[in-house]
Amino acid sequence: MNPKVKDNQPALPPPESGVTVRMYNPGFGDCFLLAFRAEDGSPRYMLIDCGVHHQYHNGEDRQERMKRIAADIAAATGKHLHIVAVTHEHTDHLYGFKYAREIFDDIQIDDLWLAWTENGADPVTKQLKQLYGRSVAALNHAIARISPMNRALAAKLQGVLDFEMPSAELKGEETAELKYLRGKCPHKLQDSDDYRHPGEVLAIPGVKGVKVYVFGPPRNIGLIKKMNEKTELYPELAALDELEAFTMALMDISEEDKRFAQSRPFARFFEITREQAGSNHPFSGFFRQYYGFKKDTGHGPEWRRIDADWLAPAEQLALKINSYTNNTSLVIAIEITTARPHKVLLFAADAQAGNWLSWPELEFPGEGPEGKSITGAELLQRTVFYKVGHHGSHNATLKSKGLEMMSNIGLVAMIPVDEKWAKEAQGWEHPAKNLLDCLEKKTGRRIIRTDEIPLGNKPPAKPNEADADDWRSFTERLDWDRSAAGAGQSLWIQYTV
Ligand SMILES: [Zn+2]
Repeated sequence: MNPKVKDNQPALPPPESGVTVRMYNPGFGDCFLLAFRAEDGSPRYMLIDCGVHHQYHNGEDRQERMKRIAADIAAATGKHLHIVAVTHEHTDHLYGFKYAREIFDDIQIDDLWLAWTENGADPVTKQLKQLYGRSVAALNHAIARISPMNRALAAKLQGVLDFEMPSAELKGEETAELKYLRGKCPHKLQDSDDYRHPGEVLAIPGVKGVKVYVFGPPRNIGLIKKMNEKTELYPELAALDELEAFTMALMDISEEDKRFAQSRPFARFFEITREQAGSNHPFSGFFRQYYGFKKDTGHGPEWRRIDADWLAPAEQLALKINSYTNNTSLVIAIEITTARPHKVLLFAADAQAGNWLSWPELEFPGEGPEGKSITGAELLQRTVFYKVGHHGSHNATLKSKGLEMMSNIGLVAMIPVDEKWAKEAQGWEHPAKNLLDCLEKKTGRRIIRTDEIPLGNKPPAKPNEADADDWRSFTERLDWDRSAAGAGQSLWIQYTV
């Protein structure tokens, strides 16, 4: 056993003021340990997520890697986490608590922070679950219908569903990992107030000069459904969005909804169903001749038929189901008020466009100078540390209502990602090239990535355009696991704000 663990002396000392953010390297997943100093000098530890993508593989067994990470968390904190925040129920944010359960068994957890979307009794959560359940059911329906005609597409769709979601979540149930954490934490989450809501301001117990602002998820279903800003061209409720219409058609619930009838291109009168076309309709001869309904009797070729083609948006639906959960991400901004000017760290989890859009408008009464209120926009302006949304995907960092508002010249970004695995095993562009270009400009290349942890003692090389003093003060605030045997083996990298 590690001697550091045995005597419970935390191996990660908190900074005099501010916070140290240790980003673990699960491969592909989020796991952040934050260390603060309380007024009496003792440390306070907060863990934001602990997960690895359930398909991740890169040499080392992912379960073994998560056990090494959990053991390091135990050693770093003296087996005591004051707060555990789980941002959303995807495997790459959660499965540390599955693979390294026995190690977490031994770690004390005082408080659990979950977004209001994890409160099953919340009326808006109920609506969201209904919407989500309907979409999952529709997609399963689509897979069943596509399967006899196109096995490859059906398998692909199933793959998208299995993408980041634990199977319990697909069934609308809570994951075993969240149940475990709820059971372990002495603070039981029962009432609405026990969950985190946008607009709240929280403290780290015993720590002065640190405020935690809750940014998201927004309590607005329209925003949670919004994955991409530019695709949202239709006014709410005036028409169905294409995926909603698709879901309704698949589930045969279209006739219950007037909006569906209004969205039809032709009146019902002109419709010839697939069954009619193949059998008794006056025009059925035409269909048999050209569309191969009875191929054994020498009728026209089947390839002309498009009756399965309308199922193609199923893939978009699958992606959207996955993104719903991303958009329920708990997003927090941590303000260090002992710094002059104040500094903010933004942890955006996997928030997508709709979640982001709600932040600038947020108001926190009484939290600004001289008892005035402070807005989300002002906190974004003070941001000096940005945990990049959704592993650097193209739709999880907004421009004008996001990155461009982070105008502090000292901005540093952290990205938990394995670009090579994302590309080669999954075909994802994480991080997206355009976003990375913007981040490089914005931060002067002060980007800290799990797939670029330095090996040995040599700090990251200064880019040509960077000022030598600036770069030195950046690297002085960095530290990393120096014991790694080879590339990709390092367990963590950290930065102190
Ligand atoms: Zn993620």
